[in-house]
Amino acid sequence: MTLVTVRGLEKTYSSGSETIRVLRGVDFDLEEGEAVALMGPSGVGKSTLLHMLAGLDAPDGGAIRINGNDLAALRGNHLDAFRRTTVGVVYQFHFLLPEFTALENVMLPAIIAGRGREARAAAARLLEEVGLSGRVDHTPARLSGGEQQRVAIARALVNAPRLLLADEPTGNLDESTAAQVFDLLMDLRRSRGLTFLMATHNPGLAASCTRTLRLKDGKIG
Ligand code: ADP
Ligand code: MG
Repeated sequence: MTLVTVRGLEKTYSSGSETIRVLRGVDFDLEEGEAVALMGPSGVGKSTLLHMLAGLDAPDGGAIRINGNDLAALRGNHLDAFRRTTVGVVYQFHFLLPEFTALENVMLPAIIAGRGREARAAAARLLEEVGLSGRVDHTPARLSGGEQQRVAIARALVNAPRLLLADEPTGNLDESTAAQVFDLLMDLRRSRGLTFLMATHNPGLAASCTRTLRLKDGKIG
């Protein structure tokens, strides 16, 4: 089944008198369960594309359908619900809240989604799945870079999204930690039936995905 359909996607940024046409008609589909690498040089628009798929920014043209939702038609509560429960996002930097423990960081999106009663149990289960059951009470400063990314992955998955978007999730890690975090993402994809789209500069990781999309001159080549 097709989970994601992107057609004719366009995005232009203007700053002052300058305009940059970043996306100029991006077309692709993602089938359920695929793990797809998104590659292309810095500045080509990978993060821009992932942001629009996450519903965090709107395109200037074209259409995105995810799991039956036409993103342009989602407003207010429906858009909030889509962002919270249909997609999960992991970034290069973990963006964990420094004052909160690993468990609390993972609980937060579940609480915000109105799942307060089950949030603690769901977060604890996920931290176990990412191999951090011994670190639940640690604040981010007391975790290694790889562990911080595992917490960020658990947080992205606590509301059981269908689509996991990752923007250079291993870009800040050494080679062996990067490989471990990537293996974890692939394991979670299998065990949870996730669809996974990952921007990366790492050709080795891209080769381990099921497919690679290359962004060039505003289009998928
Ligand atoms: P990538 O992730 O592939 O490195 P980005 O999507 O971050 O590329 O950026 C694509 C282009 O859009 C770059 O030229 C960048 O400077 C520009 N850009 C990104 N976000 C903004 C913004 N909010 N305002 C203006 N220009 C932006
Ligand atoms: Mg980027």
